[in-house]
Amino acid sequence: MRILIVEDDKDLNRQLNDALTQAGYVVDRTYDGEEGHFLGDTEPYDAVVLDLGLPKLDGLSVLEKWRRAGRVMPVLILTARDRWSDKVAGIDAGADDYVAKPFHMEEVLARVRALVRRAAGHASNEIECGELRLDLRAGRVTVAGMQVKLTSHEYRLLAYLMHHRGKVISRTELVEHLYDQDFDRDSNTVEVFVGRLRKKLGGDYIETVRGLGYRIGEPT
Ligand code: CA
Repeated sequence: MRILIVEDDKDLNRQLNDALTQAGYVVDRTYDGEEGHFLGDTEPYDAVVLDLGLPKLDGLSVLEKWRRAGRVMPVLILTARDRWSDKVAGIDAGADDYVAKPFHMEEVLARVRALVRRAAGHASNEIECGELRLDLRAGRVTVAGMQVKLTSHEYRLLAYLMHHRGKVISRTELVEHLYDQDFDRDSNTVEVFVGRLRKKLGGDYIETVRGLGYRIGEPT
């Protein structure tokens, strides 16, 4: 799951980056509205954390431009406390949720987690496929109740497939959602991670759909 952070406060930007990375997301980040708008317009993000007060182009304008162009990724806006009018304007402009500054990082994490899973059509923080279970809050994977230890890359890959359970996901889509923009994107690495995941999970959870990609769970 790939997240974009648009926040001009350098400390806050870094704290958000650290917390989201720690939570298993791939993060791209930027400090101004113009570049933020460009990235959100051209890269496939699973969610965006967008500050409203930004240099070059303010957050509300960024959001309005995305929505007018039909970009539907979930957007969490960061607003100043007590500025209720910002919240209303943000939601009217197409924000999915907001957090008022100063905030607890846990709250941002919980809201991002909820946005990402709801966008993929999941009502709860646990996604299951047979005996395979992904607990999004704990970042934990179990098979038949036994915890499976995964590396961060393996976890991201599995989490993406589980969020889109039943759908065939192409290698290209996986690469786009598992790595940040600076990563050397070699789709062969996806095959390597799928191979490792299959060994660790046992069973036939990850199906290869010849010529198309990978799928977990029954076809939808
Ligand atoms: Ca700001």
